[in-house]
Amino acid sequence: MANNNLASEPTVKEKKIFFGNTENAFKTKNNKALRRSLFLFKLMGNPALVKLFSKLTLFAIKIGLPIKPLIKSTIYQQFCAGESIEESQATINNLVKSKVGSILDYSVEGKDSIADFDRTKNEVLRIIDIAKGNPAIPYTSIKLTGILRGDLLEKINFQTRLDAKEEAEYDEFCNRLDTIFVNARANNVPVYIDAEETWLQNAIDKIAEENMRKYNREKAIVLTTLQMYRWDRMDYLQKLIWEARREKFLIGIKLVRGAYMEKENKRAAEKNYKSPIQPSKEKTDEDFDKAVDLCLQNIDIITLCAGTHNEASTLHLIDTMKKLKISNDHPHVYFSQLYGMSDHITFNLADSGYNVTKYLPYGPVKSTLPYLIRRAEENTAIAGQMSRELKLILEEKERRRFSKMLPGGK
Ligand SMILES: Cc1cc2nc3c(=O)[nH]c(=O)nc-3n(C[C@H](O)[C@H](O)[C@H](O)COP(=O)(O)OP(=O)(O)OC[C@H]3O[C@@H](n4cnc5c(N)ncnc54)[C@H](O)[C@@H]3O)c2cc1C
Repeated sequence: MANNNLASEPTVKEKKIFFGNTENAFKTKNNKALRRSLFLFKLMGNPALVKLFSKLTLFAIKIGLPIKPLIKSTIYQQFCAGESIEESQATINNLVKSKVGSILDYSVEGKDSIADFDRTKNEVLRIIDIAKGNPAIPYTSIKLTGILRGDLLEKINFQTRLDAKEEAEYDEFCNRLDTIFVNARANNVPVYIDAEETWLQNAIDKIAEENMRKYNREKAIVLTTLQMYRWDRMDYLQKLIWEARREKFLIGIKLVRGAYMEKENKRAAEKNYKSPIQPSKEKTDEDFDKAVDLCLQNIDIITLCAGTHNEASTLHLIDTMKKLKISNDHPHVYFSQLYGMSDHITFNLADSGYNVTKYLPYGPVKSTLPYLIRRAEENTAIAGQMSRELKLILEEKERRRFSKMLPGGK
């Protein structure tokens, strides 16, 4: 596992972690870049504007208006690393200088042709090739709807009978996935399978489990994702651990809260079934922390990645690691944030010797729009309160203003 471990210096055990260190958080941003982020997060703070932006952008792209340069120099620049791996390289290099790894994520959504699926598969293979033996890129990721039609995945999810053509399509998908995992294992580059909507997720879970059984005998090469905004995920996690112990395979788990809450609630209401989403944010938080505990208690067979921007959950994970005497740089524990978000967590964790990665989406501007819209929605003001990112940027701006006034300040 050693080559996936970013922290090469001795673990800084005694240092108390402090997320309020905005100087460290924004050290990669000069004043101009900070001002640009400030402007963007201020705009995103307005929910009505975000809704309007989403609709107008999708419409403008559809009718062919030349808005790509505008998107690329604003929201795309904040949340995506580049249109290709080559264009993303500068960001990868910058992050690794601060001991932060990159999880390159070919963020192309809403594509449906065989040519698109093959392109995505080849792109993932290229990432694996670049990542082998490269501590700057310790993992990669894949969305199964990037290599299979969503409506076919939905049929499989509900065990709807497939016709011969669909069977053949599904076989092709399995071949694509197998090629990816065979390469991942040969090159020692683990792959996260992203979690998607619940009407696809049973199928994704089954595929992930089958592949963990197959590929995770010596090391977790295949990692699945659990969305803790679902009320059924603790039971699922327990079942998975039980099966892994019985059948002697290793589990890879990325824990997240989940990105499709509104869509899930809307569909459940429309189709009149019980929403899969927890009754409250507090319940989601509670289950996230419980899942962290359970994973750490089973760290001998689990590789865990906490994909979160929540400070309390991050501190909970740190405290539990300490209680269970799990070292900061234990190769089975990773923290991860999305590129463009929560740098105060990322860089301060890395500074304290934890394994940290950024999810680094890249791809053509148009194809990343669904991802960008999710990020804009995530960063909008809730109940009139300023978003977490906006608050941090304002704090850093103030800190820089005051530090200039101090003797020797610049
Ligand atoms: C590395 C990484 C990988 C990711 N991969 C995936 C993935 O594969 N699939 C995916 O779906 N998402 C993924 N995400 C996105 C992730 O789900 C969101 O970034 C996350 O939900 C934001 O929550 P947070 O943990 O940062 O904490 P917070 O900001 O504290 O929590 C916000 C989240 O809490 C939940 N929530 C909010 N209100 C309620 C409520 N009323 N009731 C119940 N729950 C509520 C929602 O999930 C909301 O997004 C990933 C994120 C990261 C950092």
